[in-house]
Amino acid sequence: MAENGGLVAEALARGPICRFCLASLLAGELGDDPVGRAGEILREIRDSNSAADLSGGCSVCGGLFEEKLDALLEELTRELEDVEFKSFKSGTRIPPEVEENFDELRASLVPSSPQAIKVTISRYVDAFVVEKFPGTEIDPHRPEAEGLLDFEAGRVSVRFAPVLIFGRYKKLVRGIPQTRYGGEANPDNPSVEEMIGEPAVEAFGGEDYRLHGAGREDVDARMLGTGRPFVLEIRRPRKRRADLERLREEINLKAGGRIEVSELSYSDWGTVIRLKEESPKSKKVYRCRVEVEGGYDLGDLALIERALSGAVISQRTPRRVLKRRADMVREKRVYRVKTWPLDGKSFKIIVICDGGLYVKELISGDDGRTRPSVASLLGKKAFCRELDVLAVVNPTGSSRQR
Ligand SMILES: [Zn+2]
Repeated sequence: MAENGGLVAEALARGPICRFCLASLLAGELGDDPVGRAGEILREIRDSNSAADLSGGCSVCGGLFEEKLDALLEELTRELEDVEFKSFKSGTRIPPEVEENFDELRASLVPSSPQAIKVTISRYVDAFVVEKFPGTEIDPHRPEAEGLLDFEAGRVSVRFAPVLIFGRYKKLVRGIPQTRYGGEANPDNPSVEEMIGEPAVEAFGGEDYRLHGAGREDVDARMLGTGRPFVLEIRRPRKRRADLERLREEINLKAGGRIEVSELSYSDWGTVIRLKEESPKSKKVYRCRVEVEGGYDLGDLALIERALSGAVISQRTPRRVLKRRADMVREKRVYRVKTWPLDGKSFKIIVICDGGLYVKELISGDDGRTRPSVASLLGKKAFCRELDVLAVVNPTGSSRQR
């Protein structure tokens, strides 16, 4: 026995020890496969010294690892079969008294390069998975699959990283919410999230999904132009690659003209964070049919264009969203306003403004909470009757993202 024979003998003098606990004690001295080497050392001792107490068990772990590891590895294998993953990492939960026993032994023997039992077991599991599923890489930071072996509960749980798909959606009809209410699907009036998520979950063999949009439009507003950027998160996917062009066609076909997606590509969490952070900094182009109580004249339209183009709008959180948003005053800029008369009571307006400006209130004034407004400029009641988002322009300018 080339390695620290004295230390092994001392350890054995205190009681039997298994190859996993011995490997943890001598980790730095046992090479690439410390558990395998520890097993050889224990066999060599048994063969050469029949008096050595190697009868069953382990005074550190009570035989826990020899007893349970194989079954847990079998369960892990079953969980990983038929799932696509390129990278893996394992974690373990072991009873605290096992760690305490090990710490005591380590303190009394002072080995030169021990490692925590958790680390020994995790490395053993990682090596097992690499051998069982050739081509798998161990990625300690962002693995596609992560297996936790719980020796206390005798259970395995596996987490699969979600697949993230970037795209842009148009909403071509009014009355469609962006996301599922309370996370519940509603086949009678499906949300944008469902119409994109259901076909995607099927294509990737996932279990659930979530839409992360670059901002949101009101239920009664359409989203036109080049569409709104989004990232769809597909949870617990069994596949990590699918034909995105076919998925795009499938989503659009099933949506039957209610929504339309484009530019689907694989994405990452960085893009999700960017979408959320950039949304308030993006510019939006809105089109709206405005109705004025008591009518208007062409002079009024000229006044609106002049007064609002370039104006800084002081907007207190609209009453209609107070339940979801903090009550505060925001300052948002309107860059350009253009109007077209429709009839004596209503006109069309196009507004180019900062993201986060509530356009319905820019028209109505929301009882003075938004200033100036079309209503305050005319001294009449005015309402936004039909709202369309024509464009969402990200500050980075690029629409195609990875
Ligand atoms: Zn042990």
